[in-house]
Amino acid sequence: MSKPKINGRRGALVVVSGPSGVGKTVLARRVAAAMEGVGVVLTATTRKPRSGEADGRDYRFVPRETFREWADAGMLLEHAVYAGEFYGTPLDCVEQTLAGNDIALLLIDVQGAAQIRQKLPESVSVFIAPPSEEALMERLIGRGKETEEQIRERLKRARREMALKDSYDYILVNDDLEETANDFKSLLETIRLQERT
Ligand code: 5GP
Repeated sequence: MSKPKINGRRGALVVVSGPSGVGKTVLARRVAAAMEGVGVVLTATTRKPRSGEADGRDYRFVPRETFREWADAGMLLEHAVYAGEFYGTPLDCVEQTLAGNDIALLLIDVQGAAQIRQKLPESVSVFIAPPSEEALMERLIGRGKETEEQIRERLKRARREMALKDSYDYILVNDDLEETANDFKSLLETIRLQERT
């Protein structure tokens, strides 16, 4: 398998999607912290930071005008509208991650994943699925970040996203965080081995 080449730098780009509340961010961060050479790509959004989120750590929080400028200048590898806000992957963020790692995890939605699949067919995609819709709903309510209306909206979107899970190379069901993290690590080790051959 040949590797995605972003401005001359080689490395494996692993796209990670899954419905909101499935735990993909926690999972990806845990795996990246535990594995040498695995990094999470910082992406950009026009949505406001939630409490506890920081610019430069969770996202590049940017005004719409800046986002449009970046998109027009071709500085984004992909971009999409999600819940009325813009989200996109700055090329330089992918490069930064691949400068210090050989695997870059890109946590993006299903629209962005489809764009990456087209642009970089060598990339690998992983869908993180909840064990059930009920479990997802419980997690969304449990994390207490959204209003009832927002939760309903997120669940509706989750159903649409789940319908696309078969277009991903791998599906991981996140029932138990520890177990899923271990499965994810094994998968990344396999991808790394394949990239070397
Ligand atoms: P949240 O607002 O909950 O942080 O993210 C909403 C959705 O946007 C999640 O599915 C997240 O993975 C996705 N997302 C985050 N960054 C990007 C990006 O750069 N591009 C795309 N297409 N989706 C993104």
